[in-house]
Amino acid sequence: MDMKMKSIQIEGKEVELLVEYPVRFACMEHLEQELDDYVNDFETAPDTYAAQAIDGVGVDKRCRECGEPGQIALLKEKGM
Ligand SMILES: [Zn+2]
Repeated sequence: MDMKMKSIQIEGKEVELLVEYPVRFACMEHLEQELDDYVNDFETAPDTYAAQAIDGVGVDKRCRECGEPGQIALLKEKGM
């Protein structure tokens, strides 16, 4: 699932995001595919974090591909 967010809590710190790029999650099995999809969809490589480093009520951490709990977050930080 794509989530458009202005900012997100990563390891307790508020990190500003580029809103035009969604936050996605992937399980380890689908990580490579999701990285490829992100590059194909947005022509940019995402920043990646461990899903467990992402805080936030209402953040849907399921893998975009299979719906299993996501292990890796794909997003674009402002200024990166
Ligand atoms: Zn998956």
